[in-house]
Amino acid sequence: MSDCIFCKIVDGKIPAKKVYEDEDILAFNDISPARPVHVLVIPKKHITSLATATADDTLVLGRILGKANEIAVAQGSPDGFRVIINTGRVGQQEVPHLHAHIVGGPDPVGPMLKRL
Ligand code: AMP
Ligand code: ZN
Repeated sequence: MSDCIFCKIVDGKIPAKKVYEDEDILAFNDISPARPVHVLVIPKKHITSLATATADDTLVLGRILGKANEIAVAQGSPDGFRVIINTGRVGQQEVPHLHAHIVGGPDPVGPMLKRL
């Protein structure tokens, strides 16, 4: 998608600090890290969100989750991490290209939600 910021990262048109890449997915550091380890893992193919993903996307979604631990350990979160996938308006997704946040570091990340 030509005007998608994460597609531009996949295409090398804007820079990112890549930490993992294979034929299907790309992982790079979040530009505004919330924790010492904060990596975004995306499908190279444009998928807008979990709300628009289809059955054809199942394999790449599994790959994102399946690589999460390896990426977290390599980036300095050896003892667990949190995965967050903000989805759509209610999920307050800001970038409309599906991405999993992997957040962690040496210390626990804190309460999952500040309020319910
Ligand atoms: P979300 O609210 O789940 O859509 O999160 C979007 C995330 O993308 C935020 O944490 C931003 O800091 C991050 N982000 C936006 N632009 C870039 C970029 N060019 N490189 C890396 N991370 C980015
Ligand atoms: Zn995209």
